[in-house]
Amino acid sequence: MAVKPQKGVRSVEEFKTQLHRHGLKATRPRIAVHTVMMDLVHASPDQVVERFREAGVKVTVASVYNILSELSDNHIYARRLSAAGKMFFDAIPESHVHLYDRENHTYRDVVDEELSAIVEEHLGRRKFKGYSIEDIDIQFVVRPTKRKK
Ligand SMILES: [Zn+2]
Repeated sequence: MAVKPQKGVRSVEEFKTQLHRHGLKATRPRIAVHTVMMDLVHASPDQVVERFREAGVKVTVASVYNILSELSDNHIYARRLSAAGKMFFDAIPESHVHLYDRENHTYRDVVDEELSAIVEEHLGRRKFKGYSIEDIDIQFVVRPTKRKK
């Protein structure tokens, strides 16, 4: 089954290359999780498990969580902490701007290089005593304007 990755997400082949680069084996569970993430892009472990269940595949939340965490520890994925306090994972590890829908618990990537550049430029001059900036995570928390029926 060939799945086309969403924009910015690595294909299975590119994902395998990434795994090898980090000394990780391209195991079937890792490939299966990435195949789901190629479509979801941003997801909580529960949402990934839901996709597997729909396809008739039995997996535990813990095993999916472990795979997603391991990928994030190796910067192949990234962690996104939602406004609801839920841990989400992002198949695109590079820093980018997000819209987080607090009602539907979904993320959308926002392409706004100007905003990222402004923030980075501003922070280039900014110092937080006792800390160094490791990452910039810009997230707009939004609510849908139209009610879903
Ligand atoms: Zn994202």
